[in-house]
Amino acid sequence: MLLIPDAEHDDLLLGERPLIVCDIDEVVLEFVTPFQAFLKHNGHELRPTSFRLNGNVFSLADSGETPEEEVARLLEAFFAAHDDWQTPVLEAAQSLERLSDVADIVFLTAMPPRHRPVRRRLLSRHGFDFPMIATEAAKGPAVLALHGARSHPVVFIDDIFVNLQSVRQHVPETLLLNLIANDVFRGLAPHPGDGVDIATDWPHAEKLIRAHFASFAP
Ligand SMILES: [Mg+2]
Repeated sequence: MLLIPDAEHDDLLLGERPLIVCDIDEVVLEFVTPFQAFLKHNGHELRPTSFRLNGNVFSLADSGETPEEEVARLLEAFFAAHDDWQTPVLEAAQSLERLSDVADIVFLTAMPPRHRPVRRRLLSRHGFDFPMIATEAAKGPAVLALHGARSHPVVFIDDIFVNLQSVRQHVPETLLLNLIANDVFRGLAPHPGDGVDIATDWPHAEKLIRAHFASFAP
């Protein structure tokens, strides 16, 4: 069994086959859309004019910008109750289920490990029965710890530029896919950088992953 430093995780036992490491927020669970609903419920509003939360949250009472500390407090409250709010991204469960016939799938989420039990229950409720790692450490070293020097294909899917580039730096042979569920945020996102492919949705991601695996076939 593998142990990932600075992380809490399920048992991880990889087979002799390809590996798909997959982020959760905004990739398999909607994040921006339910967080917008949560903010409204708590007297605030997300008006995205850039690819970030801070600076884009405003008070519904006086239209003033919500300070960063208050956004952080709201985010913490959201994660504490996120199983009441977050829903699966369209086609994510179906695509991953099909891909699990040919690859091991591991979730790698940047949320504080204290929220892991709630998230684990929510994922399982929606049929995402794959092992999950929760860590606030950089994602590149975590993928390296998982994949090591194996010769099997490896794929990493995330919505955030720095996570994709961290994996690119530590495991350069990885197929890197940028996937952002929310239409508005996808439109606002910066280009994810060199060596990263953009998947417009899960069926597109699945097609790119299968083509990558096929290029390894003898
Ligand atoms: Mg994410």
